[in-house]
Amino acid sequence: MAFGLYVHFPFCKNRCSYCDFYKELHSPELEKEFYTALKIETELVARNQAVIDNEIGTIFIGGGTPTLTSIKRLTDWLKLLKKHFSLAPDIEFSIENNPEFVTPEKLQAFKDLGVTRPVYGVQSFNEKLLKLLDRKHQPFAVHKAIYLTNVIGFNNFGVDLIFGLPGQTTRMLSDDIDQLVDLEPPHISFYQLTVEPGTILADKVTSGKLKMPDQELSLALYKGGCRQLTDSGYKRYEVSSFAKEGFECRHNMGYWEGGDYIGLGPSAHSFIQGQRYANIADIHIYIQSLKRKQRPLVKERISHSDRMMEAIMLGLRTSRGIDRHQFASRFGVSLEQKLDKEQYLIFLESGHLVSDPDSLRLSDEGIFLADEITRRLIK
Ligand code: SF4
Repeated sequence: MAFGLYVHFPFCKNRCSYCDFYKELHSPELEKEFYTALKIETELVARNQAVIDNEIGTIFIGGGTPTLTSIKRLTDWLKLLKKHFSLAPDIEFSIENNPEFVTPEKLQAFKDLGVTRPVYGVQSFNEKLLKLLDRKHQPFAVHKAIYLTNVIGFNNFGVDLIFGLPGQTTRMLSDDIDQLVDLEPPHISFYQLTVEPGTILADKVTSGKLKMPDQELSLALYKGGCRQLTDSGYKRYEVSSFAKEGFECRHNMGYWEGGDYIGLGPSAHSFIQGQRYANIADIHIYIQSLKRKQRPLVKERISHSDRMMEAIMLGLRTSRGIDRHQFASRFGVSLEQKLDKEQYLIFLESGHLVSDPDSLRLSDEGIFLADEITRRLIK
């Protein structure tokens, strides 16, 4: 079966206030060392029989800010990748971009290298909110990047939008969605802002300088945003993911459906044949370890029971829900055996859960309460 490949490009030009992804400030020297290590890591992974017997179905280069990459180094690494692995003929190849760094030359180079799906961190069109997030682009940079995407001839691209920002009203979000929909992106990720410990945002919220929207407003923002997106022709296929018909992100679907994936680069995660690994989130240790021809892996000890919980949690976030037959053959128990019977019956009765012989999923109303329902359902 095809597997997914994720590459973490761990460099940014600045640190956004809300972000807890692993990243370092970009320097060409460190980037060079990163690519040298990435090539060694790719060769080490290629020795794994379970991996090379299968083809790569999707590639996702995330970060960090992959738009900053040297094209020459990316090209060299891709050559090496193709030497060791077969890529599916219909591969989905995504790369994340910060709009301010997009140029016609860079986008054309991505296309020539086989990228099928640039993804843009739009987040908002409201300059005040962008500033609060410490995002450095101006709204016009998004328009320019998407104009170039169309001119260069990408058939597919994605955008990320954040809601639930301090001071954001339903009107502000609706304006953002109006502007975004006008640009006709085939895929929209619609994320709620979360306060991650150790970020600048967390400091400001803790010290009272910023106030996050309360639960009622957050739900109103999410519900209103979902309605506006579906009214504009997008289908919600996961709690935070909307797409025009046929443009669902196959790479992410692989994660949610329990498929195998390999993660390369510092902090990247892998899941192969039921075993989960994470690379260390430190570029210097990553480079040093690969110089010694060792993958900087931290094996995650995840029990059988935890994996079942995860499958329930991820499955309920998708519009298809949990496939009962797949669940039973993967874990050797029926789905019902892992659910709290009383809560299960309550949510079926209230219409938040929809059950049929093949699947269990959340209804449109249930999806707004996905986290709460999942928490109460899992035994
Ligand atoms: S550009 Fe992206 S990865 Fe980099 S700091 Fe900002 S949010 Fe985080």
